[in-house]
Amino acid sequence: MSNSLLLDQLAERLQQIRQTLPDSVKLIAVTKQVSIEAIQAAYELGLRDFGESRIQEAATKQAQLATLTDVTWHLIGHLQTNKAAKALELFPWIHSLDNLKLADRLNQLAASRSIKPKICLQVKILPDPNKSGWTVPELLADLPTLDRYEHLEIVGLMVIPPYGLPDAETLAVFEQASELAQQIQQQPWTNLNIRELSMGMSEDYPLAVQAGATMIRLGRTLFGSRASTT
Ligand SMILES: *Cc1c(COP(=O)(O)O)cnc(C)c1O
Repeated sequence: MSNSLLLDQLAERLQQIRQTLPDSVKLIAVTKQVSIEAIQAAYELGLRDFGESRIQEAATKQAQLATLTDVTWHLIGHLQTNKAAKALELFPWIHSLDNLKLADRLNQLAASRSIKPKICLQVKILPDPNKSGWTVPELLADLPTLDRYEHLEIVGLMVIPPYGLPDAETLAVFEQASELAQQIQQQPWTNLNIRELSMGMSEDYPLAVQAGATMIRLGRTLFGSRASTT
């Protein structure tokens, strides 16, 4: 596809999406498996928040897009502890923190680098064997420990409903996530400040927005279908 066609098509999709979004909702363009040309087109159209799932793919793309200095990169995929250092080099935002061991490692690394990455805690509202993340009881038990990580700026929850639920159940998951965030915020934490809800993807973002999402992560509805899924 020529670059001007790419730009036109993306502009149209973006306009359609924006019509349904309150201004307060941050749109993260998920660029995994998306071409450099399409990412540049998204940048030209004003998008500045890009999401990637994999460290190596992100490193390659960020090197190719190094001239775009005002972009914010968001890690949205599962992170292995042994890649934590690389993740902190590449991503000021990590949406997919999913266990204490990783939190501990990120906190140590952030301290030694004098940085304070923004973090969302990945929560499974419903059981889902295909996804990592805390269950709600596990998360509630771990919050006091998470609150002690002073080099992490823990700002929100990331929620992905199990695939293929009816809309009403998907909405219920997002609403429970929103209530969970409020419940957490009512306690007097030292560091935790759960003000963001990173929830909603191409298939379900209107429901997430209805339930109070503050950040949505859109791939296919912006860029078209990926060659294969990750
Ligand atoms: C791939 C991915 C997205 C985007 O998914 P689409 O269905 O293409 O919008 C959002 N969040 C996470 C965690 C992802 O892995």
